[in-house]
Amino acid sequence: MKVPFLSFDGMHPGLKKDILANFESFYDSNWYVLGQQVRNFEAEYASYNEVKHCVGLGNGLEALILSLEALGIGAGDEVIVPSNTYIATWLAVTYMGATIVPVEPRPDTHNLNPDLLPAALTEKTKAIMPVHLYGQVCEMDAIMAFAEKHQLKVVEDNAQSQGSRYNGKLAGSFGHSNGTSFYPGKNLGALGDAGAITTDSEEVATKIKALRNYGSHKKYYNKYLGVNSRLDELQAGVLSVKLPQLPSWNEQRIEVANNYYKLLAGVGDLQLPVIADGATSVYHQFVVQTAHRDALQEYLKSKEVGTLIHYPVPPHMQEAYASLPFKEGDFPIAERIAKQVLSLPVYPGLTLEQQEFVASCVRAFFDL
Ligand SMILES: *Cc1c(COP(=O)(O)O)cnc(C)c1O
Repeated sequence: MKVPFLSFDGMHPGLKKDILANFESFYDSNWYVLGQQVRNFEAEYASYNEVKHCVGLGNGLEALILSLEALGIGAGDEVIVPSNTYIATWLAVTYMGATIVPVEPRPDTHNLNPDLLPAALTEKTKAIMPVHLYGQVCEMDAIMAFAEKHQLKVVEDNAQSQGSRYNGKLAGSFGHSNGTSFYPGKNLGALGDAGAITTDSEEVATKIKALRNYGSHKKYYNKYLGVNSRLDELQAGVLSVKLPQLPSWNEQRIEVANNYYKLLAGVGDLQLPVIADGATSVYHQFVVQTAHRDALQEYLKSKEVGTLIHYPVPPHMQEAYASLPFKEGDFPIAERIAKQVLSLPVYPGLTLEQQEFVASCVRAFFDL
């Protein structure tokens, strides 16, 4: 049996007819940028995410950058980010010329530890960027309370947790402006690059609508120094067809995860994902942790089970950030996570037989 790390076979085939029909009407529309497909998807996604506004953008990184920009974060400001995240979160802060202040995650959930926020706070702190990693929402009640107390802006990085909740409230609905990504492999993925911000603030939504389109509300009149980061019409049409399936796809991911919890309980030193009280996960990734990670990955590869590492190098140790005053040993939790985590296949359409095969291979490795 072969188990790829990710396959769209359980998601895409049934939607092909609708997506192609949408493409046909788009083709004939004679309107190819910021048209009806984008407007429709923005309304649908805002409703899905239980927020007042969604603004479609080119990708997730630009959703984070434009969120910071719309909230007035820039040079001289400090932004608290997780030490354990995909580099996009850090890059958004760098791009705006603000200063990165990393905070370690909880060792069990791998998400930002709110207990460490007070020590990271200075007079220059302007914002926090919680990243809902692997599908689990951060402890948003504590983070929002801290932000309110110190008048900080919150920009959620919700690229991995579309549909996940904390105490009943959806990821992407807490912060002042929140970024998400529809990169193909995300829980809701386009057929190429796409992203969006979600917010309850009309002011933020209006500003980002201008920023994504050369800083212009009105053709050839430019209010801001904007960029070109418009959600593509074609991708918006694809996302509109896929969005109604997202709840069921997330359910299927949760079902796979629940099976793994049963099949992988008590195996060697393997740590299974820990979900915080009040949080839920939509299992964008099923991330296990072991001191024997590299050998386990090699073994699974020999059995044709695909795995990935999210992420092998924490941002502070990336070559790109060599100029920042961080060194190995500064963020030991993030560094240990990078050495020990392994993501197992989890996606809609992964059969029970495949899940059992993955688990039996993992067990066999630890029995060697
Ligand atoms: C995917 C991802 C992004 C970036 O999204 P793109 O659309 O690829 O730019 C940002 N943050 C996290 C946590 C991600 O997983």
